[in-house]
Amino acid sequence: MPGNLNPQQISFFIILIVGLGLLVTERLRNDLVALLVILALVVTGVLGPREALAGFGSEPAVVVAAIFVLSGALHQTGLSESFGQWIGRWAGRGYGRALMVIMPSGALLSAVPIPDPALEASRERVVLRGEVPSPLNPPSGCVFHPRCPIAVDRCRDDIPLLRTLGRDHEAACHLA
Ligand code: SF4
Repeated sequence: MPGNLNPQQISFFIILIVGLGLLVTERLRNDLVALLVILALVVTGVLGPREALAGFGSEPAVVVAAIFVLSGALHQTGLSESFGQWIGRWAGRGYGRALMVIMPSGALLSAVPIPDPALEASRERVVLRGEVPSPLNPPSGCVFHPRCPIAVDRCRDDIPLLRTLGRDHEAACHLA
């Protein structure tokens, strides 16, 4: 490190290196690392409290942070799993009702970001394609196959039977 750095610059480099080390080794959660870096910058006098909090005054930054916090809370509290069970109950076993509930719910849940940048970047969004089929003239095979993003050839011809997959868990899907 060059010898003509002032104490603030040295503090900044140390905080930067420690912060990057924590992010790379994933010893702490990324959001916690970000808060600790901000705190360290304030404590060492590199940033004033006003400058440190300036980012929170930016609407896009607050919206992105809020989305990550809320999606993290959904996963941590188990609410996303409860939503899945509610959706299963609402969908029932009738074709029309199931179609109206399950497909939009799947697309909606896929829009909720995962609070892990690596996982979030690697996942695919569920984008519903095609038209909603008529309940009066349901498709052959699995009635979901025209809009199902993971349908295979068999789904067009064979009606999947309802099977018990675990406690309180039934599914009628060839891939379940
Ligand atoms: S059987 Fe399963 S994979 Fe196939 S179309 Fe129906 S829901 Fe999709």
